[in-house]
Amino acid sequence: MRYLSLGSGSRGNATLVEYRSSALLIDCGFSRRTLLQRLEQAGASPGWLQGVLVTHEHADHAKGILTVCDHLQIPFYTSFGTARKMDCLEHPLWRCIRSCETVKIGSMKVLPVVVPHDAHEPLQFVIESDDGHKLGILSDLGSLTPHLVDAYRGCHALQVEANHDPVMLQNGPYPPSLKVRVAGDYGHLSNEQCADFIRRVSWPGLSRVTVGHISEKNNHPDLVAQALSGALQCQPEDVILLEQDLVSDWYQVQVASVTQ
Ligand SMILES: [Zn+2]
Ligand SMILES: [Zn+2]
Repeated sequence: MRYLSLGSGSRGNATLVEYRSSALLIDCGFSRRTLLQRLEQAGASPGWLQGVLVTHEHADHAKGILTVCDHLQIPFYTSFGTARKMDCLEHPLWRCIRSCETVKIGSMKVLPVVVPHDAHEPLQFVIESDDGHKLGILSDLGSLTPHLVDAYRGCHALQVEANHDPVMLQNGPYPPSLKVRVAGDYGHLSNEQCADFIRRVSWPGLSRVTVGHISEKNNHPDLVAQALSGALQCQPEDVILLEQDLVSDWYQVQVASVTQ
């Protein structure tokens, strides 16, 4: 199994996970045109897509869902609350998923995990290939719960958010109410919260961590790298940061090789 980011940040998110030429898209916060262009850049065929997993209804995750799914005639999977908020309970391509209930899509198993975020019934996902490799995707949450930390234990790769630096957020351009929201328990993870999460789910089998949803106004790549290098036990320049407007490399989800 391998994955890549088709763009990550407050202006749009989409992640592609591929295993044996079948693929799942997680979120589509881009227009259909942009998504198809980025798939092409990634060398990925739209024909691989078995469906789209939707984390929640915010536009940076859901903007392109309906047009992309209608165009490709593929199903999209959301919680009931998200579908209700997206006004698509009657949509023929909608499939309902529930937290803690694994769903099998093609050759991948998906575990939806409920997270604290200011949306209607947000979910994040742990995806497992049928050869036992696990990828955890986690963004848009304001705090860590024991439930979600448990759910992400045992992943071989993680894509996680490091949204803001608290000092930059406080001194930044957002109105006071939005600062409170972003920093709150139902907002987004700060760099330090992200480092805490990585420490709590780290195990010898974890071979790859990529970091996304980095705020362009309330964070800086150097601060993210600095904050996470300790938890990742690597140099700051080796922390992998995803970008808003760039398709990332492909990352393999595999067992970490044992180093002596
Ligand atoms: Zn978001
Ligand atoms: Zn959100």
